[in-house]
Amino acid sequence: MNLVLMGLPGAGKGTQAEKIVEKHHIPHISTGDMFRAAISEGTELGLKAKAFMDKGELVPDEVTIGIVRERLGKGDCEKGFLLDGFPRTVAQAEALENILADLNKSIDYVININVDQSILTERLTGRRICKSCGATYHLLFNPPSKTGVCDRCGGELYQRADDNEETVKNRLEVNMNQAQPLLSFYKEKGYLRNIDGQQHIDKVFTDVEQLLGGLN
Ligand SMILES: [Zn+2]
Repeated sequence: MNLVLMGLPGAGKGTQAEKIVEKHHIPHISTGDMFRAAISEGTELGLKAKAFMDKGELVPDEVTIGIVRERLGKGDCEKGFLLDGFPRTVAQAEALENILADLNKSIDYVININVDQSILTERLTGRRICKSCGATYHLLFNPPSKTGVCDRCGGELYQRADDNEETVKNRLEVNMNQAQPLLSFYKEKGYLRNIDGQQHIDKVFTDVEQLLGGLN
């Protein structure tokens, strides 16, 4: 079961990733974890990546791709894997095709958790934080009992600048523009499966499971 998971911020990708790896006992391979592991193991590529990160620079594709190659070649990927956060570009997706071909593997599905932009905006702008005690709330998922007031201490709730609508919309825009060519690439390859992410979390997972049911 070789999977790539995609979804915009707020789509619930992290939650679904957790559920998939727990159910199917395949490693959850996220870019951040992969970098951290390569660095802590002190591999040649890990050290290269660290040098760029220490300088605050973006890790170049050839290093990232090398780390992905090493990771996917490990024994725990024998029965499959769930890639999350990689690939981000068509160039990386093409490199991934080559890596998998060398390993005698191929992608089964690219699962895209699909949610309307307006709903993502609602989800991503809903966070409120207490000025006094730092407790966090969410207008949709965990609202305070009285609007604008902390349940715990009665303090005033505020919205972080990162969570305001304009910032969130810009972030979504950037992510969508980045994802679009990748989705087209995978659609053309026949790997892409869209899952409706606007349903309840459990129903989203049921749909994912239905898709995965046909795989080993
Ligand atoms: Zn409070």
